[in-house]
Amino acid sequence: MSFADVIGQHHAKGILHRTIVNERVSHAYLFSGAAGVGKEALAIEFAKALFCSGEGEKPCDECSSCRRVRSFQHPDFVFVFPSSAKTVEEERAILDSVMENPYSRNKPWATPTIGIEQIREIRHAATLRPMEGRRVVIVAEADKMTIPAANSLLKILEEPPETMYLILTASQVSSLLPTILSRCQEIRFGPLPDNEIEWALIEKKAVDPVRAQLISRVSQGSYAHALEWLRESFSERRENVIEFLRFCLKDPRSQIELVEQLVRDYDKKIIKEILSLSLMWFRDALILAESPASVNHLVNIDQLETVKKFVGAFESIDYHQVFIDIENSIQMIEKNIQINLILIVLMIKLRQALKLKGRQT
Ligand SMILES: [Zn+2]
Repeated sequence: MSFADVIGQHHAKGILHRTIVNERVSHAYLFSGAAGVGKEALAIEFAKALFCSGEGEKPCDECSSCRRVRSFQHPDFVFVFPSSAKTVEEERAILDSVMENPYSRNKPWATPTIGIEQIREIRHAATLRPMEGRRVVIVAEADKMTIPAANSLLKILEEPPETMYLILTASQVSSLLPTILSRCQEIRFGPLPDNEIEWALIEKKAVDPVRAQLISRVSQGSYAHALEWLRESFSERRENVIEFLRFCLKDPRSQIELVEQLVRDYDKKIIKEILSLSLMWFRDALILAESPASVNHLVNIDQLETVKKFVGAFESIDYHQVFIDIENSIQMIEKNIQINLILIVLMIKLRQALKLKGRQT
């Protein structure tokens, strides 16, 4: 893997490439942007470039430094992440999974925070001379630092050792202390364009082009999300969506039965996925209703006829209300409020927003 293998993010790569060529590397960077767009992947590549002893373009991917960073075995490379690992083996297993797939959004770390002990280790390292000239520290998901951890990190940022380079990554920049923010050079990572995700799925994962296109469109700019879809059955999930919408028009008893079945068969994560996909279904319906020619922008491009029929079945659809209702439901499920109840209420609301042709109301 090298810069070129990190998907998209040409802007960020350009900045980092220039700082290396011009030897004007800052001591602290903040890579900000949504989860799964490649912040950690590029941070690791950048660390490699900082250590690389190869000739020409860095990282060369072949020298011993590049290889040792890649396998998380370089003595001066530190990768800190929210961790509950209790043993060295557990910690290593987590690093291995990051190494395997730096895009993984379902990080194997269970605790949501980076504690002060983890930052103390960096502070301790900062007092030692690096074995090989410089030290690079990545703090992945730095927005998950506890307040004491953040304050401790701030001490390093206030006076970073000449030989130390820090790269923080964060998706919720607003959760970082302003004093940390002001000491880092922020590099923003945008969502990945569909075509780049599509390309990566075909090239790296040998996904067939039709499926790659579909998945890229539901991944909302996140390659991590795309990889999750790859593992899960997209078509089964969409069947759930179509069924869910169909039941919105049925009697309350059938609705309750469907909801009970959904909650019995699926966990919270999948139910949220079904609702997210319903949002995309309505988004497609709106596109088709407003400009029937723009089918290229549809997510459910392979279900064009079904979406058309769906749009045609209704006198009108209050799209604005639909989007609000579904988004609210997703948020409530996130907060662990009774899922059955949320789904039932949502079905009632959707029924109101969908005006069937010829229905007397
Ligand atoms: Zn190298």
